[in-house]
Amino acid sequence: MIHRAALAVLVWLGLACAPAPPPGPPDLLLLIHDTLRFDAVSANGRIEGTTPYLDELAAAGIRYTQARSTAPWTLPAHASLFSGQLPPRHGVGAAGRMVAPASLPSVVAVLREAGYQTAGFSENPVVSPAFGLARGFDHFESRSIASVAGDTPYDVDRRLREWLEGRDPDRPFFVFVNLMDAHEPHRLRRHNPYLAPEVSHEEATQSLARHPTGICRDLPPARHLEILHALYHGDVQEGDRKLERIHGLARDASRRGLVSVITSDHGEHFGERRLMDHQFSLSDVLLRIPLVVHGTGDPPGVVDAPVSLVDVTASLLELAGAPAGLETDGAPLPRRPPEKGADPRAAFGFYSQWRGLAPESWPEGVPALWSPDLPGSGRLRAACGPEDRVFGEMGAVATARWKLIEYEHHPSELYDLDWDEAERSDVARHHPDVVARLEAELTERRAASPTGGAPTLDEAGLEALRALGYVD
Ligand SMILES: [Zn+2]
Repeated sequence: MIHRAALAVLVWLGLACAPAPPPGPPDLLLLIHDTLRFDAVSANGRIEGTTPYLDELAAAGIRYTQARSTAPWTLPAHASLFSGQLPPRHGVGAAGRMVAPASLPSVVAVLREAGYQTAGFSENPVVSPAFGLARGFDHFESRSIASVAGDTPYDVDRRLREWLEGRDPDRPFFVFVNLMDAHEPHRLRRHNPYLAPEVSHEEATQSLARHPTGICRDLPPARHLEILHALYHGDVQEGDRKLERIHGLARDASRRGLVSVITSDHGEHFGERRLMDHQFSLSDVLLRIPLVVHGTGDPPGVVDAPVSLVDVTASLLELAGAPAGLETDGAPLPRRPPEKGADPRAAFGFYSQWRGLAPESWPEGVPALWSPDLPGSGRLRAACGPEDRVFGEMGAVATARWKLIEYEHHPSELYDLDWDEAERSDVARHHPDVVARLEAELTERRAASPTGGAPTLDEAGLEALRALGYVD
């Protein structure tokens, strides 16, 4: 038995012999698991076993239970993440602006300026140079449309390993990864514990063929939706396995400690509000996202204050030691639970109809893309009635208790998140003062208008949107 004092000396010697980490800010990993719903992460307690690795990171780090995206689809959400700006301010994904302009600030550029080597690996073709989302990266690669359409594998962990091996080890790194596993098209996997055993291969294939073609009255039958949701959970599991490999690579390569931020850009409908896919809505099925921060050295914990993707941007700046590098619409994420009722934070989300096949909001120069005769647009409109609050511009704000959704063509909805996080009972008429206050906050955020010109999308960008079903 080693004497306790001798053990202490041995430990001290071991510490003394280990190379001291270089001074300065930590290495950073920002991983977006695209289309990952809050309730699809098993750490969040609604389902078992979908994300065992993320659950481990969450248990050792900080798990946020009220994180929300700024938009329900990839382009504006990533524009917020990189710029720290809410959609009304950056304007990306709204009429006339399908490309992030060169004038839009980028947290990645600030990190590079602060000495970071910056690399991005995106499985989503929308998160790419064609959409102006790769600025500030020393190295950026995104999966091509051809590779997505042809289902050619893109080996993100091999590509990341190669980059890590070739980088300058004396400088900190910032690695961004977008994983598309949870995004449709969903997959029939040999082993999917979420798919009921009685579902035949043929039936699951039929369900896949119906996604995401119908909304409102054309919504697929409940059984198809259940099958699709089960396939989705199998995809989420696959993405979690990829997360484990990617996190392991970054952790092993890090010499100065790795801080990881794992989150998503939006969720996915499986029949909620008679919708599929991720558009036409600002419900929390789409806006509420998982968020885990790991490696900061803070005590593990759960934070239930409302936070936003633009707060993630502010946190990245803070972690990199450049808190004033960007003027963001967010504030660094709280690292411990705020006192009950002490946090006045709110999370804002916006939906612009550009993606929604609604002619009234299509930008100048784009009508060639849209025609009422195209299969998608007219049919979608015909399938929905006034009871479906699905068309027009939308805004949403969530506080610690309330969630308001404001519509261009319908009255606002208000939900009391204390007892109705599924947003089933609209209580707007019972709380007109809360509605007025939150609508005023949205109006204030909307007052910020896009800056600069309106770059048009090139053919590669249009092709990317078409391939993902965003335009016909
Ligand atoms: Zn996305």
